[in-house]
Amino acid sequence: MRIPLSKPDIREREISLVARSLRSGRLSLGPLLPEFEERFAAFVGTRYAVATSSGTAALHLCVKALGIGTGHDAITTSFSFVASSNCLLYENARPAFADIDACSLNLDPDDVRKTIIRDYAHDSLTNCWINRRSRRTLRAILPVHIFGLPCDMEPILEIAHEFGLAVIEDACEALGAEYSQRRVGTFGDAATFAFYPNKQMTTAEGGMIVTNDKSIASSCRSFRNQGRSEEGAWLLHEHLGYNYRLSEVHAALGLAQLDRIDELLVSRERVARLYSEALAQVPGIALPHQPPGFKRSWFVYVIQVLGSSPAVRRHELMAGLHARGIDCRPYFPAIHRQPYFQRIDSSRFRPLPNTDSAADRCLALPFFPSMSNRQVYEVYAAIREIVAEANRRTGAGENAIETPPVQVIS
Ligand SMILES: *Cc1c(COP(=O)(O)O)cnc(C)c1O
Repeated sequence: MRIPLSKPDIREREISLVARSLRSGRLSLGPLLPEFEERFAAFVGTRYAVATSSGTAALHLCVKALGIGTGHDAITTSFSFVASSNCLLYENARPAFADIDACSLNLDPDDVRKTIIRDYAHDSLTNCWINRRSRRTLRAILPVHIFGLPCDMEPILEIAHEFGLAVIEDACEALGAEYSQRRVGTFGDAATFAFYPNKQMTTAEGGMIVTNDKSIASSCRSFRNQGRSEEGAWLLHEHLGYNYRLSEVHAALGLAQLDRIDELLVSRERVARLYSEALAQVPGIALPHQPPGFKRSWFVYVIQVLGSSPAVRRHELMAGLHARGIDCRPYFPAIHRQPYFQRIDSSRFRPLPNTDSAADRCLALPFFPSMSNRQVYEVYAAIREIVAEANRRTGAGENAIETPPVQVIS
């Protein structure tokens, strides 16, 4: 594609730090890993950070460190990347989906509460909330700050407190986002970040667990390193562990990216602002929601196709963009509609109307920090043209769309 969906921003500093780590002869378990962790924890504002080989691995270890496993449920969102639910399945726990808010696309705290009260009953013997049908125990809430917009954490934390639940924040899309003047990742018992090349910063592959809880941090350190204890011998394994370590080479890349994280976040904001200014003139689409008091960290730029039969309109828009060499993707298909998920137990799932609707309407546009004004303008002009074409074909119906004159973004 002429204009890709995403592109990492790698400069000479990244290349030279990676080269230096390669020349050092120390490729794993060296000094760069703890340095990366300490500086990352300082940036987010938590006491501990534990780096992992991916964001998915980070989520898995949080679930395991919190003792969530067989017979347990966690309330989470189906409008997410599959990893936020898969991490529960790895431990034989299950996601219990609550619906999202139609504007923010994040977990709707009211529906979280409704879901708990409708599906779970309090058991006074164990002081736990037990699913009325499956008899599974509710253990946690796993909110995802989708597309970098913070979830409404205050009511979520209140519900967690009221029902005795742990909170794992999936902040993999939200590095640098703020809620109540605090960075996301500081609200839950533990939180995760991811460094895949399309994220706000990258280590090529990699992830991070952050927490203020010393025992969660040390469990995660042990699990990622084959169940070894921090003081124990190399071949002494206290637990069943994994190799989820991050290499020195990846940590070097992470340190270089962290050095200019502010610049990376500002560049993303610039591209988002350009898009929002231009696309505000195109009728028939909704732009990313910006509730006051929630500081989004721009991960992707996702528009929603409005009107009836959005799936058809979105398909037209995608085909038109692809034909012009502009990449785009329907972010996200709902997890509960994925083939493998349907096979788990489709009867368990209650209707999730806002999730289904968002999954049919959302479309991610090309978005990366080095995107030029001209490239943003090109995407805007293409969308405007495709929408106008579609309107001409369908005639002046209820979706008739007025196209204002093209304005060049300076
Ligand atoms: C990227 C991402 C992850 C983790 O992805 P990895 O590719 O394993 O690093 C987890 N959850 C969400 C919501 C994500 O966007």
